[in-house]
Amino acid sequence: MTDQTTPTTDVRLRTTLAGVPGYKPGKPAAPRTDVTTYKISSNENPYPPLPSVLKVVQDAATQMNRYPDMAVSALTAKIAETLDVPAEHVATGTGSVGVLGQLLQITCEPGDEVVYAWRSFEAYPIVVALAGATSVQVPLTADARHDLEAMAEAITDRTRLVLVCTPNNPTGPVVHADELDAFIATVPSDVLIVIDEAYLEFVRDGDAPVALDVYREHANVAVLRTFSKAYGLAGLRVGYAVAQAPVAEALRKAAVPFGVSTVAQEAAIASLDAYDELAERVTALVQERGRVLEALRGQGWDVPETQANFVWLPLGEDTVEFAEIADDAGLVVRPFAGEGCRCTIAETEANDRLIEVAGAFRNR
Ligand SMILES: *Cc1c(COP(=O)(O)O)cnc(C)c1O
Repeated sequence: MTDQTTPTTDVRLRTTLAGVPGYKPGKPAAPRTDVTTYKISSNENPYPPLPSVLKVVQDAATQMNRYPDMAVSALTAKIAETLDVPAEHVATGTGSVGVLGQLLQITCEPGDEVVYAWRSFEAYPIVVALAGATSVQVPLTADARHDLEAMAEAITDRTRLVLVCTPNNPTGPVVHADELDAFIATVPSDVLIVIDEAYLEFVRDGDAPVALDVYREHANVAVLRTFSKAYGLAGLRVGYAVAQAPVAEALRKAAVPFGVSTVAQEAAIASLDAYDELAERVTALVQERGRVLEALRGQGWDVPETQANFVWLPLGEDTVEFAEIADDAGLVVRPFAGEGCRCTIAETEANDRLIEVAGAFRNR
């Protein structure tokens, strides 16, 4: 009898896999009888789906025996119309992380370099390593912002792709339009610059860049967007890039065939139609963000400016301890051991609880 639990195999896997970190998803909050638990570890939208969107999803579900429209025509047209860009410049994918993987596939040969800030979105090192490319991580500044000057210096002949995450996950600040302009001026025109705007709708800083204008001015700039955060469709996996036609066309070639389901395509269209309603929720979350930020800073926390739907607690060595204490209090945060915790702005009660736990932690 072979032991089914510990199979062995001689199958040769790509050596690059040894260097691929696993994606750590935010833990679900385990239900408890003593307290209501909240998952504030994945930057999800705490609001339930809009009734109008849910209705469209239920109707679309009746077609699940059919493949979706592989060209994602209606959603692509809708995005193009909404953003006032040519439809040939829009490429969709299975979440913006899916599009990110496609961006690596279309730009990088093994050994090519990808420059990005660190700490930033944890999917970046994974997609880069999977492509066999090399991550060039440029440390954030002391105030948790992109160091665009240092990123410019990190670009070499091997650089094929640069990722700019604004607002930066997990720290929160945006890059400023003037510093982004100065940065782009130093990047060779054959290097693709991707501006990851997963949290765009939460941005209220007037110094933030208008990435679509930057893409219009520079043929080597792509904008990456998602329906997962402000639009509340994280579970349906749909995102897109806006880029010049050859780049967008290459992205479509690299897409998982039929990856974006009919349900996701229809829900995204309905969400764009319902954006005014969704925007009210975003505004409420932005107000809550201000309240939480003020309270935490009032307690003495050195929280960086945040333009996203989360706050960053720079806990250093205390990170894991804080995450455990928050967990005991029914709050699942996202710890980055030795660095800090990212905490999503969620339901008012969850935000209150975060303020309470953070205050008690400082006075412990
Ligand atoms: C959440 C997030 C995304 C979006 O991921 P999806 O795959 O679209 O759900 C992309 N970039 C960053 C920086 C994020 O935080």
